Amino acid sequence: MGDLAPQSDVASLWQATAGTRPLLSRLNGDRTCDVAIIGGGYTGLSTARSLAKAGLSPVVLEANRIGWGASGRTGGVVSGKFRVPFREIAARHGLDTARAMHDLGIDAIEHVGELVSDYGIADADYRPTGSLRCAYNEHTFAQLKAETAWLRETMGDTAVSILSADQVAAETGATDFVGGMLNTHGGVIHPLNFVFGIARGLQAAGVDIFEQTPVLRFRRDGAGVLVETPHGTVTAKQVVIATNSYSDLTSATAAVKTSIIPFRSAMIATEPLAGTAGARLLPTGRSYTETRRMMRWFRKSGDRLLYGGRGAFGKTDSESAFAALETAMVRQFPELADVRITHRWSGLVAMTIDSLPHLGRLDDRVVYSVGYNGTGVALASGIGRHVAALVTGQAPDLGLITALPLQRIPAYGLREPAVRLVAGWYQFLDAIGR
Ligand SMILES: Cc1cc2nc3c(=O)[nH]c(=O)nc-3n(C[C@H](O)[C@H](O)[C@H](O)COP(=O)(O)OP(=O)(O)OC[C@H]3O[C@@H](n4cnc5c(N)ncnc54)[C@H](O)[C@@H]3O)c2cc1C
Repeated sequence: MGDLAPQSDVASLWQATAGTRPLLSRLNGDRTCDVAIIGGGYTGLSTARSLAKAGLSPVVLEANRIGWGASGRTGGVVSGKFRVPFREIAARHGLDTARAMHDLGIDAIEHVGELVSDYGIADADYRPTGSLRCAYNEHTFAQLKAETAWLRETMGDTAVSILSADQVAAETGATDFVGGMLNTHGGVIHPLNFVFGIARGLQAAGVDIFEQTPVLRFRRDGAGVLVETPHGTVTAKQVVIATNSYSDLTSATAAVKTSIIPFRSAMIATEPLAGTAGARLLPTGRSYTETRRMMRWFRKSGDRLLYGGRGAFGKTDSESAFAALETAMVRQFPELADVRITHRWSGLVAMTIDSLPHLGRLDDRVVYSVGYNGTGVALASGIGRHVAALVTGQAPDLGLITALPLQRIPAYGLREPAVRLVAGWYQFLDAIGR
């Protein structure tokens, strides 16, 4: 069998401030289980939890270290939203579908709270503080007002409300927003400690998680599937693919890779702000986004400010993408001009052609759950219950997530120039305020 060297963890704020890592080994030797799960992020770990609760024996196989993928790098914004707004879902697919997806989002948020309390993950520092979308011009503020009215009247969602420019200024410390939309659902979390806490809970329940164990390939073998890794095999009845934007690490997950466009999202974190002019920013401790299509977002963690947005195009980070974020941050918050940036990192989000996640089957032995489109902290942490249902022969109904197929990207080889083109168009629309 071939080998694949494990990749090192990114130098994120989360790595620098993480609690104790669970001790996990790599797979050496051969074993048998009910379900082999490929990927040790929120999707893989939450799937293992639900399968174990259903009385099955899952094994998690992670190519690097758990949380190495997006789950350990995210902004830690716990949100029940999808990239496609609920109003658009209702217009295209009907109100019942929009309601089902809306309820799923709320349920996923609540499940984060349950996981934190069930496993006692205090250092995940989960704060259900909600989120605020800040409008950078009147055009997008009008859109927020219409969306808020629709959510309240049609979905009965009273957690959303409109804030004036003055209220947004008091919430953020930034004076150039014309208004905003407050949503008291959701909050913020330390994403890597959340990964570690779930993994520790699984270990305590006797679930095996192997790190530095890339799945190289798998094939049907009698009544089951034979999964090959560099130093051992797993014979399972079924396989779950939980590799999301990192589905190109080996050819084992090639069948989902061509349905996903990896898009780099980058973040910077400041030094602790105590004693600086920036110390008073974001006093309400929510997550904050702005209404540009090429969205930028910010939050506090402890008394550091985190600022995120589009990362470099292509396969690696570029200094210019981080510099662009820093410039945007200082433009937004001039009091941060002299503050030191201590951490810069990025990761890949998994975009799909319809901008929706998908849970489904490749065949009678292989299930996948991928395509969170940059909003997977809550959803991927909660999806395990539904993946387990599918694995055990039920037919979970998650609205469009289960109803629509995972489509292949047409002209997959041209995805990188296509992403640049779309991003350029969005930047142009943002620049002209539409
Ligand atoms: C920079 C950034 C910021 C983000 N911010 C937010 C946010 O604030 N809020 C939000 O809701 N969402 C956010 N997201 C998205 C969110 O992080 C993801 O949707 C979510 O973490 C996906 O979890 P996952 O378990 O499906 O995938 P991942 O966490 O990416 O896990 C997949 C794992 O599969 C492993 N793997 C791949 N191939 C193999 C193989 N052959 N064998 C074994 N293992 C393999 C990888 O090593 C990886 O660890 C962000 C994403 C990024 C990149």
